[in-house]
Amino acid sequence: MELVDPIDDSDRLQDDAMLWARGFYKIMEDTNIPRSALFDYDNCNPLPADASAENPLPSLYLVKKCFEEVSDVTFTRHHSCPRGCMMYCDDETTTCAYCPAARLAAPENPASYVDNLSIREYMAGKLHQATTRNQLLYRHQRSNDSGNADDILDGDVYKLLVNDGLFSSQYDIAIGLSIDGFTPLDKSSFQATMVNMTVYNLRPMISTLSPTTIMIISGTNKPRDLESFLQPVFTESMQLTSGWLDVVLDNRQEIHAKVHFLTFTGDIPAVADLIHHSGHMSKWGCRVYLVRGAHSGGMYFHGMASKFPIRQVASFQHTLRHSNDDKNAELYCDFMIIE
Ligand SMILES: [Zn+2]
Repeated sequence: MELVDPIDDSDRLQDDAMLWARGFYKIMEDTNIPRSALFDYDNCNPLPADASAENPLPSLYLVKKCFEEVSDVTFTRHHSCPRGCMMYCDDETTTCAYCPAARLAAPENPASYVDNLSIREYMAGKLHQATTRNQLLYRHQRSNDSGNADDILDGDVYKLLVNDGLFSSQYDIAIGLSIDGFTPLDKSSFQATMVNMTVYNLRPMISTLSPTTIMIISGTNKPRDLESFLQPVFTESMQLTSGWLDVVLDNRQEIHAKVHFLTFTGDIPAVADLIHHSGHMSKWGCRVYLVRGAHSGGMYFHGMASKFPIRQVASFQHTLRHSNDDKNAELYCDFMIIE
């Protein structure tokens, strides 16, 4: 079986055994070969010349450590509330704004933290290498005369941005973010919210199947101030939109690229959190139309939603109140007038 190097960085990973092991573990992952099958790896053929009984194949742990050492991608660490309420966006705040938890467990030791992947460094690495750079050029090179919308790049929003001159370089990149909450441990109060990035420059089969996790928010509560966690992501996105991605390619050519943010999505509860909607089980549970629900053993919405007025941004602002407020309470903003 020929090993396919997904990233052409063999010149940076000088150790042959390490390079071979990386391909070996990648094939195991792609083909769902369990770790328990590893005991028989000595029978694999071909082995690199220096991987033998005396000098065995490096472990997955060592391969990951080696990659970290040669990688240009870094994570920025931010202090956060151990219960998951908020992230600290300054150096001065000492206590969570939503619970009594202190910022530090000991001097210079945060009670909890969140690591945030740099989108700029991640994209610079992809553009630097010829193999991954060519994959990113799919956005610029594709054409679709079928009349069908096969890709987000066939959508009106992307076309509008192109017409506005936002994708003037073949190297400019379209991305989308998504969030999803999950409980990683059964019967535990521990919760996590994952922030993923999808690169729309890649073919849909690649981009949709391999989103990149740029942050995992953890705690015993779901985030009370989601924007605080997302602030570094938004700040970096704004910088990348205006051009902050200068890359020297592996052929020594210098390019200037931009990264544009097309979507931010998630499932219904995640989108509700993003836009400060009170949720689909609340009295005003539709986030698109102003249709009032009726409670009868559950929340029901009668009639055809599209016959109701479309909601405006201001109509979501009631959820900015304290969380102990009754989510089904009457709204106190604009559309109260039309009731
Ligand atoms: Zn807190």
